[in-house]
Amino acid sequence: MIGTGILKGMKVTFEHMMMTQKETVAYPEERVYTPPRFRGAPAWVFDPNGHARCVGCGICVFACPHGVIEMRTSETPDKVRMVDYYSIHITRCLFCGLCVEACPFRAIEMSDEFELAGYQRNDLTYTLKDWLGPNQREYHDEPRAQVAT
Ligand code: SF4
Ligand code: SF4
Repeated sequence: MIGTGILKGMKVTFEHMMMTQKETVAYPEERVYTPPRFRGAPAWVFDPNGHARCVGCGICVFACPHGVIEMRTSETPDKVRMVDYYSIHITRCLFCGLCVEACPFRAIEMSDEFELAGYQRNDLTYTLKDWLGPNQREYHDEPRAQVAT
């Protein structure tokens, strides 16, 4: 019958209009919910004492398929490896999460940070300063819960 398709379409529209709960978030005053599997910017994880979990092994650097992680380390006189520089060029990050999977210490995670705009390219290279400074992009006592994929 002519017009049946239109009626069916109108029925679906009407059902959605009347029965679906509206969810409006007053962003940026309110932050939108990010589910546990959300992949925002990769970020360092710290223990409850504020110490980074990263030991500078460099596995994440090799695991990154796009080569966006840079790290420089040094050794103290008593042979303790220190991470002097660690950065992620977020403009080239694929958000694949391979660095997170590769890290044997769960020292890096895909955070819920999605506000990744900047006025200059240099603003988009996340360094230790960004994670440790007064405007920490991400700080967790414990890594986010792992969710089976
Ligand atoms: S793999 Fe983990 S512990 Fe090793 S350098 Fe990367 S973040 Fe640090
Ligand atoms: S999420 Fe992927 S592309 Fe981004 S830093 Fe980690 S491994 Fe590299």
